[in-house]
Amino acid sequence: MKSFRDEAVESVTRARAEFNSGESHRLRYAALELRFAIETLVYDRAHSYGDDFPEAERLAWQPQQVLRALVLLDPMTSEDFSICIEHESLPEGGINLGKAKSLTMRHVNTHYHRLGNFLHSETLKQRTQDSEERSAQVRSRIEGTLEFLEERLDAQIINMIAGSAVDFPCERPGCGNTVRRFVPESAEEVWAECVVCNARYRILLREREFEVRREGVRIDCPNPQCGREEFVWPEKVEIGNLWTCTHCNEEVKFFHVIARPKGPLANTDTFSLGFDELKPETANNSKAVQTEMK
Ligand SMILES: [Zn+2]
Ligand SMILES: [Zn+2]
Repeated sequence: MKSFRDEAVESVTRARAEFNSGESHRLRYAALELRFAIETLVYDRAHSYGDDFPEAERLAWQPQQVLRALVLLDPMTSEDFSICIEHESLPEGGINLGKAKSLTMRHVNTHYHRLGNFLHSETLKQRTQDSEERSAQVRSRIEGTLEFLEERLDAQIINMIAGSAVDFPCERPGCGNTVRRFVPESAEEVWAECVVCNARYRILLREREFEVRREGVRIDCPNPQCGREEFVWPEKVEIGNLWTCTHCNEEVKFFHVIARPKGPLANTDTFSLGFDELKPETANNSKAVQTEMK
């Protein structure tokens, strides 16, 4: 069976033939083939991760969506790099084994969307423009994407995966996803994000073990009869939002604080967004919010 990468090569080859024909109506076929090439290159990268690619994103077809899941799984998928080997027996500088050329979200957004414009008939406004000038613009843009993709397909290092994956269940109630993140060998700390619910985590790596801390806010319930600590997901901490304490069932409202630049606020507790272990901080923080019993 043909690999996704083989299909990308075939699409780019056909796009080059359409482009080189010089006939302006064939540029639309070149654009279509190039869109296929971008899709299959992104699928090829996802396929290279096998079962590590998130189950939740396997039905996705939009390259942006698949690439987002890839970058969350392993940010290295969107990086260009080269690999060298060095040894005392080798000349200074070692031997360069080649380059990896990747697709970033910016690339996909730019090229994929731009090509989509050429798959439609000219609009009323475009009809009023100089047709030769417009045709030259379309040719130049398609050529830009063609060269960009040919360069990616010429890279010597393909679909390299480094490091190892850590995974853990997402802690957001009702999400049920497994968060998975590739981490480089030497990393001590990396971030991770749940591809389903966007919960963010900090992963602290210690030799063969790792510890996970979710991003959010720890607050003490302002009800004087309760005062117990609760974890609040970051997007809930919005000015005007209501939050119900799970211990005493009291409703609490977040509202703005105008803080003095120095010194603590009297009779209030303020909190800043951070990872799980963060405790209430002083009001000297731009994201400071205050809680109020409703
Ligand atoms: Zn989640
Ligand atoms: Zn409470």
